[in-house]
Amino acid sequence: MIEPVGLLTGLGIGVATGLLVGRRRTGAISATDSIHPDDRAAIAQAEARAFCSGVPQVVSYRRRDREGGDWRWHEYRANPAYPANVTVPPLVHAPGDAWTFATSLGETGDAVRAAKIIEDIYGSAFAFDTEGQFTYATPTAQASLAMTLDDFNAPLSDEPFLEGGDLGWKNGVHPEDYEAAAAELRRCMRAGEPFNYEYRVLRASGDCVWHRFAIRPARAGDGRVTGWYGTGFDIDVFRKTDDALRESERSLREMVETAPALIWCMTPAGEPIYFSRRLREFFGFDVDAKDKPGAPRLHSILDAVIHPDDRDRVNERFAYSLRTGDAYALTHRQRRFDGVYRWVETRIAAMRSEDGTILQWNGVCLDIEEQIRAQDELRQAQDKLAKASEAASLAELSASIAHEVNQPLAAIMTNAQACRRWLEADPPNLERARAIIERVDRNAQSAADIVSHIRALFNRTTGPRTRAALGPLIDEVRELLAEQLVRDRIRLEIRLASDLPPVPIDPVQIQQVLVNIVRNAIEAMTGMPPDRRRLCLKAVLAGDEVRIDISDTGPGLPEPDRTFEAFFSTKAQGMGMGLAICRSIIEAHGGSLHAENRAPSGACFTFTLPLTEGALRQRPGANGSSA
Ligand code: ADP
Repeated sequence: MIEPVGLLTGLGIGVATGLLVGRRRTGAISATDSIHPDDRAAIAQAEARAFCSGVPQVVSYRRRDREGGDWRWHEYRANPAYPANVTVPPLVHAPGDAWTFATSLGETGDAVRAAKIIEDIYGSAFAFDTEGQFTYATPTAQASLAMTLDDFNAPLSDEPFLEGGDLGWKNGVHPEDYEAAAAELRRCMRAGEPFNYEYRVLRASGDCVWHRFAIRPARAGDGRVTGWYGTGFDIDVFRKTDDALRESERSLREMVETAPALIWCMTPAGEPIYFSRRLREFFGFDVDAKDKPGAPRLHSILDAVIHPDDRDRVNERFAYSLRTGDAYALTHRQRRFDGVYRWVETRIAAMRSEDGTILQWNGVCLDIEEQIRAQDELRQAQDKLAKASEAASLAELSASIAHEVNQPLAAIMTNAQACRRWLEADPPNLERARAIIERVDRNAQSAADIVSHIRALFNRTTGPRTRAALGPLIDEVRELLAEQLVRDRIRLEIRLASDLPPVPIDPVQIQQVLVNIVRNAIEAMTGMPPDRRRLCLKAVLAGDEVRIDISDTGPGLPEPDRTFEAFFSTKAQGMGMGLAICRSIIEAHGGSLHAENRAPSGACFTFTLPLTEGALRQRPGANGSSA
């Protein structure tokens, strides 16, 4: 038996060895003089490995038993913890043997190899004593921080670590994490509890890397803490992934919670499992509180919130979806926390796995009360508008009948007066009177035609179309207005192209249009000097239609944009309906009517009539009100 290497025992657990590389404290090492200087580090490392790994370490070393004696090989067993290491008998190799230290290590077996692993494994390992003084750190730990054990232990303040002082390893910790980590370590060391903590390590490379540290106390047989050993692992990727996951989960949850919708989830069987904050606020009650013994929670909730009139429908749809897996969208009334039923639109859809199995039902509920109300208001406004336009159409129609019938009635009156004059003459001129009576007859017929055609217009139809030549029609117009033309001293020039074919028209309506436009022109020119009162009616063939221009030398249109507006009139007795009706008639014939001012003065009305009876041509922006 050789004597134990007592001075090496207990790896720095308060016992000075003076052999640990970088160890700050040194103590009496007289016995170490007997150990070969080349083997001292190996023994110290074995101690460290034993302490860190918890596995006994056995190394070979050379020792001489007396001053000046031969070096002899011995085995040294480093036990993981206090109280004492047990030495084993020396190997029987003589000094100078060909054995090398490495060979002897190889021969000492698995324990040493296992201990060696700790220096090679991913991460770092270290040990420190009960005061926080580092006694060991794997090369990785030292290299990554570019610190030796001395650097780890270098005091940065006067107080010992356990009393709040800081040691050099502080520089290897992210400043934001250090205080909390150090405080926790002190707490664990005082309480003898394992330290499990994550903080950012500042590597010498400049990287700042999250690590997880696990530090455990080593205890003596009597339970006394004799030191600490621990490991640290780079968990940066996990931490970042975890942080990213946590953040994505947080933002997803936040999105669900703040989305302007009421959201909930159910199990595949329809058991509600989640209600968003907004939905809970909408309900205003604790959903658990609505649970009824024996009744599915879904039914209890639906019973509590769905309007009684909508309940059956909602229950049916829910049951249908749960049975078939089909999504659904339903509009119904739902009770709010204040007892008010609001219109909501509910949609649910199944979330499925890749093989189609329903994993969960997701539902969303939108409060559409405002929308429904707006729709109601819109509908009411439309009803009102429809009624108003009906009234307006009625007024328009009455006005148009009055307006159109007015013309032949005026002619009848004029002719009747003329007839009386011929009859009262001495001797009565019966022949002229008879001729006038015939004219009265025609005028009366014309009035009757107008009424029936206006009625047809009201029914959105036009009278029968016949292919009529425009010449005779225009002559009739001249005849109707002859007296007015003469009275107002207006010269009417009619220029008809010789190749004008008959056009498919309702002659009474087209005559109405011509009369209206010509009469307006006559009235417009009464303020002009008589010698400048000229009216020109021109009809030409333009492609597949006939174009008729009626121009005058009056003052021109006062407000060209409003000319065809119903009830727009600048005349004291005017109704402002004539041109609106004219335009509807022309458009009903598939043509168009517009007006413009001409230089130096005067207005020109132009309308077209297609040669073939075609579809109704719509004026852009035309609507029923001008018809
Ligand atoms: P009313 O003759 O009852 O006023 P109309 O619809 O026939 O209704 O005419 C509308 C308005 O168009 C007239 O009041 C007048 O101001 C204008 N207008 C129509 N024709 C002419 C024209 N030839 N010259 C100038 N203004 C005209």
